[in-house]
Order: sequence, then structure tokens, then C-alpha cells
Amino acid sequence: MRLLLFGAPGVGKGTQAKLLSVKFNIPHISTGDILRQAVKDQTDLGRKAQEIMSRGDLVPDNIMIGIIKYRFSKSDCKNGFILDGFPRTTNQAVELDMLLNEMNINDIKLINITADEDAIVKRLNNRRACKVCGHIFTLSEIEKSDKCPNCKASNSFYLRDDDKEEVIRKRLEIFRKTTEPVLEYYAKQGNVISINGLGSVEEVNSELLKFLGN
Ligand code: AMP
Repeated sequence: MRLLLFGAPGVGKGTQAKLLSVKFNIPHISTGDILRQAVKDQTDLGRKAQEIMSRGDLVPDNIMIGIIKYRFSKSDCKNGFILDGFPRTTNQAVELDMLLNEMNINDIKLINITADEDAIVKRLNNRRACKVCGHIFTLSEIEKSDKCPNCKASNSFYLRDDDKEEVIRKRLEIFRKTTEPVLEYYAKQGNVISINGLGSVEEVNSELLKFLGN
């Protein structure tokens, strides 16, 4: 199974991708997570990406395509994958198509997760990341303890720079202008289904599974 989870920042792509990755035993490829790890490790890529990401801008296409090419070369991608956060520009989508053609893959499905902007701003502003393991939690999930439910680190929660309200608004604007056209690109190929992302994690997950025939 090869899926591309598409939607505005904060719509729940990452959460759903993680659940599907466990269920179908295929890797979750989040370009945002790959970049955040590079920033944490202060690699060349991380140093280049850090400032761009904290402004809420997009990392240049050639860098992103290089990241995806490298990730696809790993053996765990052979039986499928879930892309989360890529492609974000029509150029990335075209390059992805070429790459998949080279790999003889033609069964990718795009799932568009939708939600309105005000709900997204509220959701992003109410989430915190663990600086040790990178997991994302809602404030209500972590209000009772300062220990990360995933990796048990203490006092490790922080509000990502790019989850601050003014940066969220900018990311949403970039999504509208630059990323949404990707949907038209896939719609022309007849490869898009839309799911409402406003329900609970479980509701959205069960919609996704229904669509995937499970
Ligand atoms: P995400 O966690 O997917 O919201 O990504 C966080 C940030 O990483 C984005 O705001 C961008 O700065 C950068 N990023 C992630 N994926 C891409 C991509 N496909 N193209 C360009 N920039 C990206």
C-alpha cells in the first residue's frame, strides 16, 4: 500500500499516518520529522532548514526531492509507505511521479484530509512537542504529568516555533497558495479522495480504514 496523506498543517496527517503505519506495517515518511531530526543533529541539512522552518516557509524543492530519493532507497519502503508532508508543491509532485515511474510504482493513493482554518489554528496552538522523542501531544493529554507519555522524558514539552499563531497563519497561507494546487494535479489523474479531519482521532481513523477497505 502506498499512500500520500495530504492536508493543511495541523489537520492530523501525522497522527493518522502513525496509526496507519502500525496497522499496515509500512513506514511513515514525514518530511517534517526528517527535517526536525536534521535540525536536532545540526547536520548541514539541519542548519540550512532551521531558519526556513521557524519562519514557516518551505524548504527548497531540490533539497526535499533529494531527501525523498534517499528515503525511498531504504529497503523498508519496498512493500509500501505513507508519505506525510510531501509533495507540498506541484514541482515536488511532478518529481515524485518521475521517481515512482522509475521504481515501477503506479498505485499511489492521495487522501485529502480537510478542516477549516480556525479549527486548525486552535489545534496547532494547543499542541506541544517533546524535544526528546519528537512526539506531538495536545495540552489535555499532558496536563496531568510533566513526563512525556511516549519516551518518559521529564519537562521536555515545548511549543514549536512553527506552531505559534503568526507562523501558523503564514503556513496556512503558503498551503493555500502553493500546496493546494497539488490537489488539482492529482485530481486530474483521478487519484483523490477527501476525508473530513474535524472528528476525533478515532473517527478520522475509522473513515480512513473504511476507504482502505479495512
Ligand atoms: P510539517 O511537520 O510537515 O508541518 O513540516 C514542518 C516544516 O518543514 C514545514 O513548515 C516546512 O518548513 C518544512 N517542510 C516539510 N515538508 C516539506 C516539503 N515537502 N517541502 C518543503 N518544506 C517542507
